[in-house]
Amino acid sequence: MTDRIYGGWAGNPRGIAEDKTLCIQNVWGDFGHGHQCSRKRGHGKDGLYCKQHDPERVAAAEEKKDDELNEEMQKSEAVWKRRRILAKMASGITTVELKNYKLVKRKN
Ligand SMILES: [Zn+2]
Repeated sequence: MTDRIYGGWAGNPRGIAEDKTLCIQNVWGDFGHGHQCSRKRGHGKDGLYCKQHDPERVAAAEEKKDDELNEEMQKSEAVWKRRRILAKMASGITTVELKNYKLVKRKN
């Protein structure tokens, strides 16, 4: 296997050779070109990644994010469903009736 090269760009086409003690993840720097992750490797497949870039951890984190998003979506969907049902229910009731209902409830 050939060595990995990091940060190859127009001003430095040969980039920087892989440091074999460090995580292989390419991370994006401030200048728009990548460089090798600066954390020690030892995690993930063949121990090539740091703890943060361990592909299993990354995948798990993404799945968790998906789950959270799905939950959020389901929640807001439930809210809209409820609003639609309430709107339907209330559509046969006049505004005056709704106001009266509120007043009755307040007395309790
Ligand atoms: Zn890393």
